[in-house]
Amino acid sequence: MNDLSQPVGGPTLPQERRLVTEVPGPRSRALQERRVAAVAAGVSSVLPVHVVAAGGGVVVDVDGNSLIDLGSGIAVVNVGNAAEKVAAAVAAQAAAFTHTCFMVTPYEGYVAVCEELNARTPGDHEKRSALFNSGAEAVENAVKVARHATGRSAVVVLDHAYHGRTNLTMALTAKSMPYKTGFGPFAPEVYRVPMAYPFRWPGGREACGPEAAAEVIDRITTEIGVDQVACLVFEPIQGEGGFIVPGAGYLPALAEFCAANGIVLVADEIQTGFGRTGRWFACEHEGVVPDLVTTAKGIAGGLPLSGLTGRVEMMQAVHPGGLGGTYGGNPVACAAALATIETMEQLDLVAAAESLGKELRGRLDALADGDPGIGDVRGRGLMQAIELVHPGTIEPDAARTRAVLSACHRAGVVTLGAGTYGNVIRFLPPLVMPEHLLAEGLDVVAESLAANPA
Ligand SMILES: *Cc1c(COP(=O)(O)O)cnc(C)c1O
Repeated sequence: MNDLSQPVGGPTLPQERRLVTEVPGPRSRALQERRVAAVAAGVSSVLPVHVVAAGGGVVVDVDGNSLIDLGSGIAVVNVGNAAEKVAAAVAAQAAAFTHTCFMVTPYEGYVAVCEELNARTPGDHEKRSALFNSGAEAVENAVKVARHATGRSAVVVLDHAYHGRTNLTMALTAKSMPYKTGFGPFAPEVYRVPMAYPFRWPGGREACGPEAAAEVIDRITTEIGVDQVACLVFEPIQGEGGFIVPGAGYLPALAEFCAANGIVLVADEIQTGFGRTGRWFACEHEGVVPDLVTTAKGIAGGLPLSGLTGRVEMMQAVHPGGLGGTYGGNPVACAAALATIETMEQLDLVAAAESLGKELRGRLDALADGDPGIGDVRGRGLMQAIELVHPGTIEPDAARTRAVLSACHRAGVVTLGAGTYGNVIRFLPPLVMPEHLLAEGLDVVAESLAANPA
């Protein structure tokens, strides 16, 4: 079954959009038939082209089509797919040893990743880290640490939040379909409070900062009880919920309230972190210093790895053996993470996210000017989105969103939807995306919007 003539991906792949068949082509469709017969239907795919190579800003499929990647495998391959240093580090580590279990016999790579996370996450207080496999697992462990450190049980989360698919993180996640429907009962002691969503805030954008925070604080105080709350878990920019940037001042006010009341502030930076928004971490945009930070997605160039980093006194509150897992901080994934960080430094990808992000915003603003169905343009760096509505209203236009996404896919551009109402198109190119390809990808988005008018 091993195909030893696998094509080579990585940054040397031709950086072009090239369609040689319809999308998906005949080979992808044949693989799709096998997939449907073998893979659980509950695991779905946005665009059923089967991939053979990827790198820089493109994904190449089994029919030879080269697609522009505006998704990065959901904000994962920030350094590009099969990035040179990452691929080399993975190969070298795999040849040395692939697993011992850090809880049995440790190794330097795990320690080095924790040192990097401690140094790079917001705040210069003393920290400790622990490593896991998935984002959801990191969030679960954040709640474990917060409960242990405070002796309290309640967890406060926001409207439109997404934190994962395990039982506890489903409870933390807001949207029912597809994440929660039919999967209950959910973990108890989870309380949802209003998110400062500027485009939809009842009092308008101007009232969506400290005023929105005051509403949350009132809810926590009157309905949950301040002294019952272990932690507040939030995304500094909401991801699956629709790239919602909270109104200015909302997060700092919540951070201040949490600090004053012994509530652990947990920033879920799984999608926003590792350079994506033009800073190492999105909390930095508002000077918010969380007590605990979860990382995953962008941290290891595509290998499964997640981290929990936090204040030394909270992290050390947990007894030995209370945190961990068989594969957490796997040596191959750690090698990939260290190579990812090296690549980000070498190519100055945080700055690239900021400068490419300005171009992206310029294009999206221009699109919105000529399209009454684009209600909002938002996001930071290379994490931006447009929200589609029926003109003159805030009524979501999910049908148009689906049509535009599908037109982009047929034209060879990988684009992703998002949003509680399914009416957001999000842009998450790799931070190594060449400028000309970003521009071409956005040309296709513009054509797809024009071909499917509001
Ligand atoms: C993707 C994501 C998760 C879950 O990560 P998995 O690795 O899929 O478990 C949690 N929180 C946020 C903000 C995410 O974007």
